Amino acid sequence: MKKIAVYPGSFDPITNGHIDIITRALRMFDELIVLVAYNPVKTSLFTVEERMALIRDVLIRDEQRLHVDCSAGLLVDYVRSRGANVILRGLRAVSDFEYEFQMALINRRLNRDVETVFLMTGYQWFYTSSNLIKEAASLGGSVKGLVPDAVLAQLQAKYNHQK
Ligand code: ADP
Repeated sequence: MKKIAVYPGSFDPITNGHIDIITRALRMFDELIVLVAYNPVKTSLFTVEERMALIRDVLIRDEQRLHVDCSAGLLVDYVRSRGANVILRGLRAVSDFEYEFQMALINRRLNRDVETVFLMTGYQWFYTSSNLIKEAASLGGSVKGLVPDAVLAQLQAKYNHQK
């Protein structure tokens, strides 16, 4: 049986921290679905389509085992609909832990066949979060090296446009 994992997140936008998790997960699973999980009433910098396009753009194009999708529904239902049974999440600081712990427990309660697997962040990406990156970029700070160049260009375009 194929080992298929779903990596859900806002990816608003994708960062090098996310890419590190994805690259490492591809060594553990046969297939990986990067899922832009969105809430239609929540505001985001990038639209769902823009986020998916950026993920596709920066990830290895000829990697057949990687898929990009979006969903606003219940995560465990999505996971089962794709024939997967693993939710993949990344852990940075202790501050991530409490929220991630709660999410893993509620998802297991909702569907006992779905397990959440955590990968520790690569130490270079310990402080990298989409929110901090947006905040720094919006104030004109350089986030080069924390996001792929394509994301950097899109961030600059968004914030220059808003000025
Ligand atoms: P963020 O928390 O950066 O806004 P997401 O909601 O898109 O990002 O996060 C999706 C998943 O990726 C979560 O499990 C989150 O903890 C993880 N993640 C985000 N940034 C990093 C990072 N720098 N290193 C490891 N995991 C990360």
